[in-house]
Amino acid sequence: MKKFRDYQNEVNKCSKCGLCETVCPLFKITPNDCVASKGKFIMLSGVIKGDLKFTKNINRYIDMCLKCGKCKDFCPAGIDICEIVSSAKHEYMKNKLIGKVINFLQSEFVFNKIIKIGEFLSYPFRPKHTNGNALTTVVYFKGCVNKIFPNTDKYIAKIFKNHPVKIIEPDFECCGLPFLSEGNLERFLQVGKHNLDELRKCNCDYLITDCASCESTIKSYSKYLPDADLTNLKSINWGDLIAEENIKFKFKKPLKVTFHKPCHLENDEFFEKIIQNCENVEYVKMDDYDSCCGLAGSFGVKNCKLSQALIKQKTANILKTGADVVVTTCPSCIAGLKLGLLGRKIKVVSLLEFLAGGI
Ligand code: SF4
Ligand code: SF4
Repeated sequence: MKKFRDYQNEVNKCSKCGLCETVCPLFKITPNDCVASKGKFIMLSGVIKGDLKFTKNINRYIDMCLKCGKCKDFCPAGIDICEIVSSAKHEYMKNKLIGKVINFLQSEFVFNKIIKIGEFLSYPFRPKHTNGNALTTVVYFKGCVNKIFPNTDKYIAKIFKNHPVKIIEPDFECCGLPFLSEGNLERFLQVGKHNLDELRKCNCDYLITDCASCESTIKSYSKYLPDADLTNLKSINWGDLIAEENIKFKFKKPLKVTFHKPCHLENDEFFEKIIQNCENVEYVKMDDYDSCCGLAGSFGVKNCKLSQALIKQKTANILKTGADVVVTTCPSCIAGLKLGLLGRKIKVVSLLEFLAGGI
């Protein structure tokens, strides 16, 4: 695992061109150099060289990042802000009391116990996966939210009733994103190694997820774990498989839907393909459909005002579409969108919930 100081060359690649500022959603609402990657790199370069102390204020700007990766995609030097921010967070938290408390709460002993209890309590409400004459085998990375809440399993059973898939569920742990965000790199590496070992035991066509963040975190394992060879892994979203299987849906009443693309969802081509197979459904694309919902995990808690401003923008774009339903593919985005639409008639649902409502 690279240490914070090992990122000096990477940080120094920044030419201060400022292109990242033109795409950073936070810079657009708070035009302060320190919120975009350019300013973050100036501060972190000073810390690495020893010219600056890693103060609470610098940590505040480290926390002020959606990890949306928009700046990385635009940066001529291709600097990976998310990786550097996680390492900086680790450096800041490693000797702090709050860091030790968070590490304890995220430990195998506490975190896994909570998920296991939720999983145990929800077990009677889950349908059994039936394999039928399945031609496709998928390894399902359920994610913590779906381990606790059983509804997604019910939606999968309904959608694939006539298109059987063989679903393998190894004993995966959390993808590790909550640990990475808090700079708890040791725990992140622990779950990463565990999940890769589980994956190696399976002979599968696809690794499938319902959560864009889980999918993108699993894909990032190779950055942190040198022996993580994920080049042959076909990692997809349930939406990709539904589009590939050409499953048809018919809705009783005419519905207008719009789609929110989570920051971590790489490919959203499946959505329009699926909608073409949905009778009685009209798709209205919202403005900035791929801009952040504003919640972004713990970002919303640590940066309440900025989060509210982003949620407000997103809500206005949704309302403009006149849609009855907003569909997305990330449990955290569902929470963010629901916050913005509180008291409105528009429903916010996962893609699987939406499709399970069709016949
Ligand atoms: S776009 Fe890249 S190189 Fe340019 S200022 Fe931003 S981080 Fe630095
Ligand atoms: S990852 Fe997103 S929020 Fe963070 S600095 Fe880059 S563009 Fe801004």
